[in-house]
This record gives sequence, C-alpha cells and structure tokens, in this order.
Amino acid sequence: MSKEKILMIGAGRMAQAIINGLKQADFSEILVGNNTNSERLEEVEARFGVRTTNQWQNHVSDQDIIILAVPPEAHEEVLTSLSEVIDGQLVLTVAAGIDVKYLEAHLPEQTPVSWLMPNTAASKAESMTLFTLGHYVTDEHEYYIEKILFSIGQFKKLTEQQVHQITPITGSGPAFVYRFADVLIKEVQKAGVTEVVAKQLVAQMVKGASEMLTSDLKCPQDLMDEVATPGGVTEKGLQVLDEHGFDQMIQEAIRQCVDFASGNE
Ligand code: NAD
Repeated sequence: MSKEKILMIGAGRMAQAIINGLKQADFSEILVGNNTNSERLEEVEARFGVRTTNQWQNHVSDQDIIILAVPPEAHEEVLTSLSEVIDGQLVLTVAAGIDVKYLEAHLPEQTPVSWLMPNTAASKAESMTLFTLGHYVTDEHEYYIEKILFSIGQFKKLTEQQVHQITPITGSGPAFVYRFADVLIKEVQKAGVTEVVAKQLVAQMVKGASEMLTSDLKCPQDLMDEVATPGGVTEKGLQVLDEHGFDQMIQEAIRQCVDFASGNE
C-alpha cells in the first residue's frame, strides 16, 4: 500500500525545511495547506512547485500522511477540524511539547500518530530529529516516518519522556551553538577582521570540531586534551571556563528549558 500522499498543514520555516527534504526524497504528491496566511502558500508554491490549498479540510480523505507544522497553540483548533474528516491517516506533528499523548487525546480513537522533534538544520538536511510513536503505528507507518526523517537529516526513536528531556539539547541546542559562535565572531572582529571573514573563520572552526566529534571515536575529553597542551594557552582558557562555572551554566540552561517546556516554571 502506498503511503506517499502527504498533506502538510502550515507553510512556515519548519514546513518549508521538511518540504525541501520531501522533494529531494522523491515524495511527489505533496499538498500544503494553510488557512491563515495565503502569501506563505504562494511562496511555497513558487519555491517548491507543490500544490497548495487554503481549504485543507476538503482534501484530508485523499491523503495518506498528515504533517502538522503549525505553532503548538494552534494544535487544538487544527486537531478539532482534522478529527471531523480524518479516517485512519497517519498524523505527525513537529510542534514543541505536542507529544503522542496529546495527539491521541485530541484525535479519534486508534489514529496512528507520531511526535517528531527536528531542528532548523532540517533546511540543510542536517537535522538531528528525535521521534516517538503512538500506540497504533504499524511497521509500515514507521517505514514512512523514517523515510521522511531521513530526508531532513539523522533521526533517533526514543521514549516520550526522553524526547521531552533531550529536546532542549537537540532542538534548542543550535541556538546555544550560535550564541557561542556570536561571541567568538565579535572577538575575532576585535583583531580588525571584517564580520564576513570572522564568521567564516568561526564557522569552519565549529564545523571542524563537529567533524572530529562525529568521525573520531575519541570522547570530548580526549579531544580537548589533544588541543590543550599541559601548561599551554588552551589549558588556561579551559581553566577560566571552569572558574566561571561553564558546565553548571549549560546544565542549568538545559534544566530550565525542560522545566519550562513541561510547564513547571
Ligand atoms: P512559523 O511561524 O514559521 O510557521 C507557522 C505556520 O503555521 C505558518 O505558515 C502559519 O500561517 C501556520 N499557522 C498558524 N496557525 C495556523 C492555524 N490555526 N491553521 C493552519 N495554519 C496555521 O513557525 P515554525 O518555526 O515553522 O514552527 C512551526 C512548528 O515547528 C512549531 O510547532 C514549532 O514548535 C515547530 N518546531 C520549530 C523549530 C524551529 O527551530 N523553528 C524546531 C522544531 C520544531
């Protein structure tokens, strides 16, 4: 049975990143629906050559997979409309905090659902996406979920609880890396280098370090030791990070993200 017909609800940044991946992966039947912003639909139609509609409810019965890429706060309304017309289709969401428990509670009984947590690198097919499956997802559904996720990068199936706990690292994490990069770029500029060149230097440094982490079997501590000669310049810098509680600061940021997302703040 083919599960290749996809309705994407939402036409914003994350929707466009995923549509880009789906096109590369040869998903040819993509319909994009957005009730709130027709300019976005025109943009998506022109950029990707996909069909669009501002009446997505009329097309649900023709689809195999429905992906929600709307803000978390729009889910209640969208799922209520979807419930009126859905008939066993696989429903995926990429919304922060909208887990399978929420989806299953807001859709007709036995609807197969999955919660996907990509990051913005999906637009470069470099996302690290976490996902968790609902109770009614079959092996065939999972095959299509993984095919979609492969089109936007790498992916890992985890429990719902793990996705909640790790999302601040894989989902928000890119912003922390950009923050770190931003500080370094400004420091480079102090040496009289233009912003463009400073960004190039820092971006390649981060990319190189990422490549070492990805391809080398060594753990981060060993890689640090390779850079930091005892008594040398790098060791001095790492000591200053320790003195200012660098590790604790990162841990606290992650902890507060988790608490905030679960409404404990
Ligand atoms: P965005 O603002 O760029 O796009 C949101 C889209 O939803 C727009 O096209 C808007 O018109 C549409 N929309 C809003 N309300 C709607 C409604 N009631 N019915 C139909 N369409 C509606 O936002 P984004 O960054 O693409 O985020 C979309 C989802 O992706 C969010 O749930 C967010 O949590 C999730 N997400 C975003 C990121 C990220 O880094 N941007 C990462 C992971 C997950």
